[in-house]
Amino acid sequence: MKWDEMKEDKRPKKGAWAPGYYTNKCQECGDGFIGDKRAHSCADCAYIEQPSK
Ligand SMILES: [Zn+2]
Repeated sequence: MKWDEMKEDKRPKKGAWAPGYYTNKCQECGDGFIGDKRAHSCADCAYIEQPSK
């Protein structure tokens, strides 16, 4: 996994996603992403999984 391939996202915390500066691997899609130390989903998946109603 290269840094270039890590997804970065500035959206606010939602579900399993939280912004931060740690490298993580998404448990949903398996992509590498930059986020909170304890986040276990990328922002893309978190926002898809829990659509706002
Ligand atoms: Zn994901």
